[in-house]
Amino acid sequence: MIEIENKKVKQLVKYYETIWALGSSLSLMGWDNETYMPENASNDRGNANSKLSLLIQKHMTSKSFLRKIEDASKENLNDTESAVVRVLKRSAKNYSCLPKRFIEEESKLLSKSQVVWRNAKVSNNFKEFEPYLEKVVNLNIRKAEFLDKSKSPYDVLLDLYEEGLTQVDVNRMFGEIKNPLSNLIMQISSKNPKLSDLTNEKYDKESMIRLNNKVLDLLGFDRLRQRMDVSSHPFSQTVSKNDQRITTRYKDNNFKESILATIHEFGHSSYEREIDSNLNYTPLDAGVSLGIHESQSRFWENQVARSRAFCNVNHNLLKSELSFLSKYNSEDVYRYFNEVKPGFIRVEADELTYNMHIILRYEIERDLINQKISVKEIPQVWNEGIDRLLGIKVPSDSLGCLQDIHWSMGSIGYFPTYSIGTLFGAQIKHNFEKEFGSLEEYINNSKYGEIASYLKEKIHKYGSIYKPNDLVRKSFNQDISSSYFLDYAKKKYSQIYDL
Ligand code: MG
Repeated sequence: MIEIENKKVKQLVKYYETIWALGSSLSLMGWDNETYMPENASNDRGNANSKLSLLIQKHMTSKSFLRKIEDASKENLNDTESAVVRVLKRSAKNYSCLPKRFIEEESKLLSKSQVVWRNAKVSNNFKEFEPYLEKVVNLNIRKAEFLDKSKSPYDVLLDLYEEGLTQVDVNRMFGEIKNPLSNLIMQISSKNPKLSDLTNEKYDKESMIRLNNKVLDLLGFDRLRQRMDVSSHPFSQTVSKNDQRITTRYKDNNFKESILATIHEFGHSSYEREIDSNLNYTPLDAGVSLGIHESQSRFWENQVARSRAFCNVNHNLLKSELSFLSKYNSEDVYRYFNEVKPGFIRVEADELTYNMHIILRYEIERDLINQKISVKEIPQVWNEGIDRLLGIKVPSDSLGCLQDIHWSMGSIGYFPTYSIGTLFGAQIKHNFEKEFGSLEEYINNSKYGEIASYLKEKIHKYGSIYKPNDLVRKSFNQDISSSYFLDYAKKKYSQIYDL
């Protein structure tokens, strides 16, 4: 790992420590907000949040700091040092290119549009949300123009979440998987597979908590630096390198949701835990992008936990807390973990159909920003798309285009990163196997530490030093490609469903 030695960059990093501390405090408050905060504290918390955020903005846009970044950028820098400059320039730009008036308008609109979206979803009334979404779309187009007039607005928005990503990349990747995956899903549906009885088996919450913790211990969760709590939507939050929080959730049946969410968040959390200590408190002390982050969670969830080896070797462990499993063998659990069933809700979707939700969202938001379709056409485009890709008829907008919160929060350009993570997760497995042989063998022998070391060496330790594409080229000598996921999916599901 290359260290930071240049004096000017050292100074920058020193100044940044205050921003880091404010960010760390906001993270902890954000985690608390979703887990233990008393309900009536939300206004006070909102207040404290906005004051701290303003302080960060003040530091990030201070003239002397911007001058320091500029000065440092003219030095002869090594990879780590120039990455400090790159990352700081990116965040400073997002703060300083947007006029104050615009930021005020944005925050007013977004707090209102989220409330309207929530009501529209409950009352299944897209018309109610329509004028607000129109404003959000226009606002995003204007935002993109403020940030970089020379690029297509949707490319500017994509870059906010996945540095360097463009529509050309996403069109290619999603174009390659859209029809083959949809065909695979249709082939499975046409066989009318019997759904697993395991979905309806009720579990005892205390046992499930114990099981999730046993699984975390098995995978290498570090109790001195990580903890798990409960929230309505599972998430992972970094307070600092040595303070990683994850959450999961408990219903009373369908135990795979709880265990797979736990393992998914473990993947996110391990990424940030294993960043090289030299990057502590620097702007590089975070996962480099949403897509690369999601590849880490999806790798543990899909490539490890949904494997036959994992279900097989851990059957007794699962049975030790879930007594109903004595009626089922490990093959039943494997099929239950990998059940493909076209459904309306993205967050409940399986490994295959999930991508169809994302591809459709992507096409719609891309066409909205490129002004190829209008907001009022969304329900029709969504319903036709779901019918075409998954072969099911959407019964209501609440179960259709209104289900996801992202657009109401102003997040356009975010959705593609979910599937990019899924695709890259499969690519990592391919590369692991090229070097070390079957991943299933490692899982069979519970060598999770060795799998984790591989991820650390190839991805984690670098933090944000390399842009997503550069990181993938450096570590794997490849670009992110959809072919690995497609091969993996065809092979796995043809076997499960006897196609
Ligand atoms: Mg995730």
